[in-house]
Amino acid sequence: MKSKLLLHTCCGPCSIYVVEQLSKDYEVTVYFFNPNIHPRKEYLARRDEIKKYLDKIKVEFVEGEYNTKDWFNRIKGLEKEPEKGKRCDICFELRLGKTAEKAKQDNYDYWAATLSISPHKDIKKINSIANKLAKQYKVPFLDKDWKKNNGFKIACDMSKQENFYRQNYCGCIYSQKNET
Ligand code: SF4
Repeated sequence: MKSKLLLHTCCGPCSIYVVEQLSKDYEVTVYFFNPNIHPRKEYLARRDEIKKYLDKIKVEFVEGEYNTKDWFNRIKGLEKEPEKGKRCDICFELRLGKTAEKAKQDNYDYWAATLSISPHKDIKKINSIANKLAKQYKVPFLDKDWKKNNGFKIACDMSKQENFYRQNYCGCIYSQKNET
């Protein structure tokens, strides 16, 4: 029997390759907890796309709470921070923290996140936050750099094949002006 793994994800393009890879060795459940995504229409577009795809490939999907008020409260004072700055640390801590907490509550053997597949993210920061949370909740985190071995390119190609919508900003209202 495969070990159970809870995978935090934020959208289809970041998930498709990671889900495929992890499903070889683990029984994967995807956890969509992203109160940072703005506006709601965008949140729903990202959520519905990944959910539809996971239904097709028969991978379980769980949605977290979309509590934007809490997210805005947490990042108060950091609105003008650049991407990869202190606002992102808080955003990662919240999203990864909830994932670790859920992994503990629901008896998962491992947890992981798709965030490291993005070339716009600081992998060291993500792994350091996640490993601290893994110790706190006593559920091991798989700290893989998914963009390695051409991972990002493969994910882009797979997303094109699936005709996924690809957003041009990270997620929050402040990242909308740093369109990529
Ligand atoms: S830029 Fe991305 S990671 Fe940083 S705070 Fe905004 S949504 Fe979160």
